[in-house]
Amino acid sequence: MNSEQLFEKSLQFVPGGVHSPVRSFKGLHTTPRFIKRANGAYLYDVDGKNYIDFCMSFGPLIHGHRSPQVEKAIKEAVENGWSYGACEPYSLELAEYICSRISFIDQIRFLNSGTEAVMTAVRLARGFTGKSKVLKFVGCYHGHLDSLLIKAGSGLAGVTAASSLGVTEQTTSETLTCQLNDKEAVEKIFAEFGDDIALVGIEPLPANNGLLEQDKEFLQFLRDITKKHESLLLFDEVISGFRIGFGGMSEYLGITPDIVTYGKVIGGGMPVGAVAARKEIMQMLAPVGGVYQAGTLSANPVAMAAGLANVKLLTEDFYSQLETQTKKITTIFQKWLNENGFEDYQILQKASLFWQVPATKKLKSEQEIPEHIGQRFSKLFEILLEKGIYLSPNAYEISFVSAAHDDEVVQEFEKRLWS
Ligand SMILES: *Cc1c(COP(=O)(O)O)cnc(C)c1O
Repeated sequence: MNSEQLFEKSLQFVPGGVHSPVRSFKGLHTTPRFIKRANGAYLYDVDGKNYIDFCMSFGPLIHGHRSPQVEKAIKEAVENGWSYGACEPYSLELAEYICSRISFIDQIRFLNSGTEAVMTAVRLARGFTGKSKVLKFVGCYHGHLDSLLIKAGSGLAGVTAASSLGVTEQTTSETLTCQLNDKEAVEKIFAEFGDDIALVGIEPLPANNGLLEQDKEFLQFLRDITKKHESLLLFDEVISGFRIGFGGMSEYLGITPDIVTYGKVIGGGMPVGAVAARKEIMQMLAPVGGVYQAGTLSANPVAMAAGLANVKLLTEDFYSQLETQTKKITTIFQKWLNENGFEDYQILQKASLFWQVPATKKLKSEQEIPEHIGQRFSKLFEILLEKGIYLSPNAYEISFVSAAHDDEVVQEFEKRLWS
């Protein structure tokens, strides 16, 4: 069966044919490609076509598909079994490695996704502070937990208000929202609710609704105001952690959050999330403290081995090389856009992340994103897909460059663009 037939069949057994909405190619005039294998920078579909992949599983695959070191670690781990429901050395090694390389983290707990990590961070903050409200920013996505599924992310862009049915008014009433990069709005919220805010959560590099890099002063301001009001500050580094640099945006900016959440790169393509903080906060978690959290498959040994192999490859040199490659790619892509009817597009880039958007300056909040960018994107996406180039299939999703995007791939990218 080809992709179209498989998708048709999927619609029968799976809602919308997909197990995560953004995979559905909604709003695009083509059906999702069914991928049968991948290697390096390439995806291979069941229709016999291959694509230079800039989605990279939405971020985790910083070393590309089937990175030899990660594959070796997975195979070795699997030989010993793949779930024990008991203590094992793999997760200890990963915990020690991360805590020793990121200065502000004393302890870490592994779970199965970014969503779980943030869910735990919210509960932890409430348990630690004894307060109840959380403040989030419009357009930031923190996973699909009820309390933060409000004015969130790309899969939901275009949908208004409480982002999802099934989220109760009671829940939304505990969640406050502000526009990104807007100090005054945050000040107002603190003036009104300051004593009751348990947590201010932000993607320190908002990257789920375009790429909306914040002024450092704004993030520092959040650090200061939360400290003043004894609220906790969460940096949700599920995308930016281990991506912008080993210690994510926190390290890059030199701003220390109270709690940090990781996902994506930390598991190297296996399902891993993590929540981390200084010891005083982490000691609130069960079995030490009164904040409950658990997981049958948490710290799965195969996923832990993959994660460890993945993060051990992340050196300073690695990041500068990756950024150099990304610059080459975005330069070529911008030139092609200029020559092919997308001259109003600019590419916003940060480290190995980029996003193409019809705008002339850097965007810092959801409000600044031009309206109705979906239709033009649809056209762009389909042209590129036809040429064997796979972007993340949504106008508000960013693209990811991996170590597998070497010079040979860059040349091939250029060739395919002008083919
Ligand atoms: C992807 C993402 C999440 C959710 O992670 P899942 O593993 O998809 O549950 C949360 N926060 C941010 C910033 C993300 O990018």
